[in-house]
Amino acid sequence: MTEQLYLEDSTVQSFEATVERSLADRVVLDATHFYPTGGGQPHDTGTLAVDGEQRRVTGVEKKDEVYHTLAGDTPDRGTTVQCEIDWDRRHAHMRYHTAQHLLSAVLLREFDAPTVGNQLYDDRARLDCEYDRFTETDLADLETELNALVDDGLDVRHYTMSRERAESELDTQRTRIDLLPDSIRELRIVEIGDAEDPFDRTACAGTHVGNTADLGEVTVTDRTTQGAEKERVTFELAEPVTDGGREHGTRERDRRERGERGSGGGTTADERRVSASRPDDTREVDG
Ligand SMILES: [Zn+2]
Repeated sequence: MTEQLYLEDSTVQSFEATVERSLADRVVLDATHFYPTGGGQPHDTGTLAVDGEQRRVTGVEKKDEVYHTLAGDTPDRGTTVQCEIDWDRRHAHMRYHTAQHLLSAVLLREFDAPTVGNQLYDDRARLDCEYDRFTETDLADLETELNALVDDGLDVRHYTMSRERAESELDTQRTRIDLLPDSIRELRIVEIGDAEDPFDRTACAGTHVGNTADLGEVTVTDRTTQGAEKERVTFELAEPVTDGGREHGTRERDRRERGERGSGGGTTADERRVSASRPDDTREVDG
């Protein structure tokens, strides 16, 4: 199985890899930072180069392996390739994904409205939840609450936890663990806020920013009904206030290339090895 490096460090923008399988229009790499479509988060795009000759990476899909669809010829098995992720797009997905977790948490806390689906884009996002009908006041309150959480500058961390421990220690409704298939025995948990008493904890394999301050201003743009007892909320984020650790990512990469262990900026949880198992983010299955 392709090593899914984005689970461990979502700040890396360029990396070197080796082609393990070469198909007509797709390649499998030994390890990748390209995010494959999943959990309501679209795949990354970017470039893959051999000796400076670039091909566009137009699709990334996870099946038995992670497949990168290329425009142009596919390099042979064993070829070393240089990959670059389109960072503006990925960073937007990270910001929208973290914002969606905040929105899901607020909806559950304030409205008892569990999330049943969501879809992120690089300029907007939508979320479906079980609820009768939001009023204009409700939407204004949601927006105020979300912006307060951005202003609070809450840390975002991730770590893995066995299912047994998660089931005994975490609120399974909030984390939606109860909906995961039994075969998933190890969960990746994304946590926002205080380490002792986090604001949100969700089983999720997506990429996120390191702090809610990176989201910038949130605007709740609309609501529509999705049938009986189901509402769709849409929101947008203002232009990014940071570059999402572009420098940090570069430093991490340099360190990695020198074979050193990263330490700056990352929390302990960031440095824990993440297993190859990838829990489906049940809270974020596109409804
Ligand atoms: Zn998620």
